[in-house]
Amino acid sequence: MNEVIQKAQHYEVEIIDMGEGGEGIGKIQDFTVFVPNVLVGDQVEICLTKVKKNYGFGKLVRIITPSIYRIEVRCDKEAICGGCQFQSLDYQKQLEWKRQKVENCLKRIGKLENIEVEPTLGMGTPYHYRNKAQYPIRLVDGKVEIGFFEAKSKKVVPVTDCLIQHPINKKIIECVKDFLNEYKISIYDDVTHKGLVRHLMIKTGYKAQDVMVCLVINGKTMPHSKAFVECLQAISEIKSIVLNHHTDKTPVILGKECTVLYGSETITEQIGELKFKVSPLAFFQVNPSQTEVLYQKALEYAELSGDEIVWDAYCGIGSISLFLAQKAKKVYGVEIIPEAIENARENAKLNDLNNTEFYAGKAEEVIPDLYKQGIIADTIVVDPPRKGCDEKLLETLKAMVPQRIVYVSCDPATLARDLAYLTKEAGYQVEKVQPVDMFPHTSHVECIVSLKK
Ligand code: SAH
Repeated sequence: MNEVIQKAQHYEVEIIDMGEGGEGIGKIQDFTVFVPNVLVGDQVEICLTKVKKNYGFGKLVRIITPSIYRIEVRCDKEAICGGCQFQSLDYQKQLEWKRQKVENCLKRIGKLENIEVEPTLGMGTPYHYRNKAQYPIRLVDGKVEIGFFEAKSKKVVPVTDCLIQHPINKKIIECVKDFLNEYKISIYDDVTHKGLVRHLMIKTGYKAQDVMVCLVINGKTMPHSKAFVECLQAISEIKSIVLNHHTDKTPVILGKECTVLYGSETITEQIGELKFKVSPLAFFQVNPSQTEVLYQKALEYAELSGDEIVWDAYCGIGSISLFLAQKAKKVYGVEIIPEAIENARENAKLNDLNNTEFYAGKAEEVIPDLYKQGIIADTIVVDPPRKGCDEKLLETLKAMVPQRIVYVSCDPATLARDLAYLTKEAGYQVEKVQPVDMFPHTSHVECIVSLKK
């Protein structure tokens, strides 16, 4: 280790790059330092907090010269809230960083050289885009607060008018807070596991402006739930009020059971020409306008002529399946959450798409089974959670040899790992890699890839 480099010392550093979580990377001679909350191009003074053999971590002391990519932050909670990472980074630079992140993962993890990654497809107005918010509710200094956790903490930062959430959430948060205070409803405590109310989830259908309010409670019932419904009914957009029962100690937000207090169990969202019923527990893409961009790409990459048998693995409420069913002979969807599959079947009916069939189960079990029964796909779409595709599913793809694979990914690292298998072991070629910005101002990257045999 270089002798001059010591913990607790201050150094002047130029931030030359940003790592995969958005953290700044700089050099003190040959020694690499990682610094959170700075941007590429910043000239900063840092204090070293941790020193390893070849690298270390630093804390920002002051910005000496700001980066040319720095923009004015519009959110006053940005410095403490753990939600956004890039509010101060120029949006075009965010898009380029996401493209670069995909390229780096393909090279470093997948050892895939010479693959061109397209410029990220971004939003025209990258604010108020989210259709789902999950706000923790906790006591802070004895007061009920609804907001977001601080980064890496269980302390709630009160947030009412978040820049990336739907503007209606502000009214709902205020209403729920008034109710909890007025009726002295007990609030959950992470340490003792006592107290009733844990989270407030709000889902919004952007097209119809339908809203679902779901209160997550540590128990079976909530006192004064009738008054709760009455308070919320003042907001006319609310079409569904639900209690979710979650008594486990895990940090997972939702429990497995819900009780409807008012209205319907689902709200409706429209993507392109298609309508979707969304239930409290089912996954649905959080950015509806970019979802349309993503699904149009899926349709383009699938190159359907109308004769194809298509599989949609990890199909959620069947949204990609139904998009493809408009142009395919038959689409089979597979998803692990049974309620989502019920939604998928209803959604197929709602849109008159009868050339679809949905299975509840693990993609890595259902698809190999169906393959054994002789159902062979011409095209398969996979859209797995962050951990990527299960090996058994990839092995089935290798054996079945569909002409086309469309891979939708929310984690470039596992995407790179799976693409390495599909190209090196299963004989596929990557044709196009297209990042789509589903999560402006955060370090999350969505990407869609087309592969051909
Ligand atoms: N394609 C959908 C959902 C993608 S998110 C859409 O665009 O909306 C990933 C989905 O995979 C989630 O719905 C999750 O419940 C589901 N899932 C997770 N593990 C699974 C598995 N092993 N088999 C099938 N589905 C799984």
